[in-house]
Amino acid sequence: MNEEIRVRFAPSPTGYLHVGSLRTALYNYLYARKTGGVFILRIEDTDQTRYVDGAVENLLRTLAAVGLDYDEGPQKNGDSQPYFQSERTEIYREYVDLLLEKGAAYPCFCTTDILETMREQQKQNGEHPRYDGRCRNLTPTEVQTRLASGEQHVIRLKVPSEGEIFFYDLVREKVTFPWDMVDDQILIKSDGFPTYHLANVIDDHLMSITHVIRGEEWLSSVPKHLLLYQYFDWKPPKMAHLPLLLNPDKSKLSKRQGDVAVEDFLLKGFLPEALVNFVALLGWHSSSDREIYSLPELEKEFSLKRITKAGAVFDQEKLKWMNAQYIRQLTITELSERAFPYLQQAGYQISDKAVLADIIAFVQDRISTLAEIPEVTAPFFKTLEFGDDDHQMISAETSQKVYRFWKENLVSVSDLSENAINEFLATTTEATGVRGKQLYFPLRLALFGNTRGPELPVIMRILGKEKTLERICLLVEK
Ligand code: GLU
Repeated sequence: MNEEIRVRFAPSPTGYLHVGSLRTALYNYLYARKTGGVFILRIEDTDQTRYVDGAVENLLRTLAAVGLDYDEGPQKNGDSQPYFQSERTEIYREYVDLLLEKGAAYPCFCTTDILETMREQQKQNGEHPRYDGRCRNLTPTEVQTRLASGEQHVIRLKVPSEGEIFFYDLVREKVTFPWDMVDDQILIKSDGFPTYHLANVIDDHLMSITHVIRGEEWLSSVPKHLLLYQYFDWKPPKMAHLPLLLNPDKSKLSKRQGDVAVEDFLLKGFLPEALVNFVALLGWHSSSDREIYSLPELEKEFSLKRITKAGAVFDQEKLKWMNAQYIRQLTITELSERAFPYLQQAGYQISDKAVLADIIAFVQDRISTLAEIPEVTAPFFKTLEFGDDDHQMISAETSQKVYRFWKENLVSVSDLSENAINEFLATTTEATGVRGKQLYFPLRLALFGNTRGPELPVIMRILGKEKTLERICLLVEK
């Protein structure tokens, strides 16, 4: 019997979606699509103090922008709703009562001051700081009286103090933790809200999650989670912990270091499909050396078996290279659509569609992100600046001859087609005797600000006749 695969992406809205979380979301999505399973989005928003305004909206917007469609979650109906943990607090309360009844959890009245002193003393004794479990030993009557008097408290999980626990992770294989490394985890905070650990386990169970796929930083939480499953008498899901993301110098990719927010990458002109392709390869590889994969191709190729243990380097240069590949694959119309906002934002006026198409054809193999477009196309739109060497070329007698001829005769060119312009260049040579580099370089310099660059007809079509003439006239000396 094949059970239906159900996976979830469970972000906490404590900041904007970053590349590490995008990878977690993507691998869950891919695994669901590959197996015909269900991909759930669950918002883990029980920590009110770390809640960042707009984070949920950013998350939904970003997932949509990169094409990661979920089957159950916010704004969708599903059997396990609600998908915001803050709307499920009643449920957690019920389950905690069960743990309390079983003696698997206990109220703890220790104040911040008490905990602080405890930690200091442990440090002085050279011990690993942890909660020493003193409230486990309160008598039932004492607990009753203190609860009845409304004393502030939390609920903690009873963790074994000796021995060890091991489990099998689909990526890390056998993992062992000694219990004395694990604290009596707080399950319910003094504000009555559950902690991540409690809510996460209960929801994974209630939402029938079969595979937990998440970042390696959660590996050390597994012992507590497995203990909860055991206390509840539930079957735990299979687990796959994804390798750390590293900077090229192998240090841990921090959320603060540089811009790692996915939306920033999109704004900087990385194509969503390139970003997804790049992120897919951060810790997973296909059976071949192939690197370029569309999302539908990834959906077919993905497998948990080929997730690597070693940390994955987040190499922005490679991302740029990949983005450039995707840009080159777009049709002129597609690239025009994506590029237009960047040209518009730069304040560049483009007279018509044909000119836009010429500009796009010009930039297509010269850029690696869309955000580079304004700079690469600046010579068409901004006043050109010339250096000393340029002035020498501009003032040369042959250049001036050519400029003068163009100033007087360019009006006669019927259109700016390649043919018409080539004919006009031949006429220029006939009339002035100037040819080859001496003809092309000063003209390109006058029109594009550089002796090297696109073909003259391309430049002229983008500039239009009027601006071409204007740029030439500017350089004709008295
Ligand atoms: N809410 C956790 C996070 O922010 C989820 C971790 C998990 O997938 O269990 O990443």
